Amino acid sequence: MDTIEVLPRLHMFRFPIGQAYLWRDGTDLTLIDAGDRQAAAAIADGVRGLGLDPAAIRRIVLTHGHRDHCGAAQELADAYGAQILAHALDAPVVRGDEPVPEPVLHDWERPLYARGLTLPEAPPTRVDGEPADGDELPFGGGARVVHSPGHTPGSIAIHLPRHKVLFTGDAVAGVGRVSLGVFNTDQAQAMASFRRLAALGPDVACFGHGDPLTVGTAAALRAASE
Ligand SMILES: [Zn+2]
Ligand SMILES: [Zn+2]
Repeated sequence: MDTIEVLPRLHMFRFPIGQAYLWRDGTDLTLIDAGDRQAAAAIADGVRGLGLDPAAIRRIVLTHGHRDHCGAAQELADAYGAQILAHALDAPVVRGDEPVPEPVLHDWERPLYARGLTLPEAPPTRVDGEPADGDELPFGGGARVVHSPGHTPGSIAIHLPRHKVLFTGDAVAGVGRVSLGVFNTDQAQAMASFRRLAALGPDVACFGHGDPLTVGTAAALRAASE
């Protein structure tokens, strides 16, 4: 796992597939996504590597219920006392009560999707809170939940208006270039969500896959979502 500084208070943990983000408010930490189920120790080490204490992780916000994003959430939450948050429409999947919804795959997506399925399945994971569209979470000066369905029904993005930072989850991808995320359950809905996120005009965009954008971000999102 690589640790990459995006902003002084924002770091990315990059795994072979997917990534998670650590946001810091003073000593309070928030994780956006949690890697796959083998990632807990690496994430804890990554936090310590920044001179921080994993016990300061207050909450783990899951952008959606895929195994590369929620796999290590329960282990981290149990070890460090964090709350796990996910949208109501993906929470049953995260809890293991419902199967992961099948995406409608383009042919070119099939090999990529198969690669993702080589990751171990996420264990049943408790969800402590189900924030809805427009809700404000107590970090980053007020973190707005933006329901962005299409990749999965309960996909959410997290917008920090005060810092002009947007965590898109897999609604938007940044692999090579900014584009609509792949493996969508509803392509039209995903495109509408992409446009809605682009309209937020962030300075910094953090994707579920691919490098964060910190320069020309709003324009790149707008152009890619048209
Ligand atoms: Zn996903
Ligand atoms: Zn993903």
